[in-house]
Amino acid sequence: MNAFKPHLRGLASYPYRAVDAPIKLDQNESPYDLPPELKQQALRRLEGLHWNRYPSLHADEVRAKLAEGLGWPPEGLVVSPGSNLLIQALVQAANRVVDTAPTFPHYAFSAKMQAAPYQQVPLGPEFTLPTEGLSQAMKGEPALVFLPNPHAPTGRLFPASEVAVLAHQARETGGLLVLDEAYQQFSGSDHLELARTNPHVALLRTFSKAWGLGGIRAGYLLGSTEVCAVVQNFLPPFGVPAHTAAILLTVLEHPEYTRGVVQTLVAERERVYAALQEHPSWKVYPSQTNFFLIRTPDAAAAYQGLLARGILVRRQDHYFGLEGCIRVSIGTPEENTRFLEAALALPEVSHA
Ligand code: PMP
Repeated sequence: MNAFKPHLRGLASYPYRAVDAPIKLDQNESPYDLPPELKQQALRRLEGLHWNRYPSLHADEVRAKLAEGLGWPPEGLVVSPGSNLLIQALVQAANRVVDTAPTFPHYAFSAKMQAAPYQQVPLGPEFTLPTEGLSQAMKGEPALVFLPNPHAPTGRLFPASEVAVLAHQARETGGLLVLDEAYQQFSGSDHLELARTNPHVALLRTFSKAWGLGGIRAGYLLGSTEVCAVVQNFLPPFGVPAHTAAILLTVLEHPEYTRGVVQTLVAERERVYAALQEHPSWKVYPSQTNFFLIRTPDAAAAYQGLLARGILVRRQDHYFGLEGCIRVSIGTPEENTRFLEAALALPEVSHA
């Protein structure tokens, strides 16, 4: 079959394999489902819609509600079923793509699918921001730069002053700095002001983490009217389903439930971090997200040992600079306690 572009031959599929386990700490989801009364409200809203009719062309009601909450013009918002799709649309539109190594793999995956010119800049020691390297990489043909902040999969929050240097460089070079704020709520900071004052900055956000809606598939891009108009064109019309929109409108009317979720997960993050300091052979990196990157002597052994104790985590040791690393999401307090017990009981520890 030769109907597809030659560069797509043999391209590996997205690196995820579903595995069943009683305690699921592998996808950085919220361990808390939507409160039942909000589920009921969303279902009632959905029931009242005409299912035979197409939804709004560009999720207009959702954009209006988001715009109102953020104090941002609706023309500067694009809603889509998951921010993954926004990443793909941004890459399709871009001259060339720059990101860091390691980073969220969907940037590279999208660039490969698109055969977009692509450059990775390694993070500095202890996963610091390579500000100089990225600034250099942004010179020349205007580039689209993906930077998650807090960073995935390291969990680190880069200083605002350094991000500002990159935003400035994006403006100087005519590029676009896309700050992926998937984990923003867990860090207590955001880049709204930066984006407000610099049209060469755009923000990616998702409902899959702090909002507890991983199964609903929703994310949005926040940027200049010009950027959003182009990205919107790369997404299919009527692309946000009526049911997704009904759920989003409901949660956007009741954002307060996320506060308790974030508070609990942040407190648990600090508890897990403190407890793991006692681990004899693991190094846990500080995190401003709802997950930890942990360097172990042997990622395969750590993964299997935890799985044998009913706990599913994600191996990261195949990524650049992450030898021996696993990534563990923060779960409920009970799940985290079980994880800590298992982590400290692994054979590699008792034999150490
Ligand atoms: N960006 C980052 C940094 C992520 O970790 C994720 C999900 N793991 C996404 C984007 C994609 O989120 P969504 O569920 O909205 O597609």
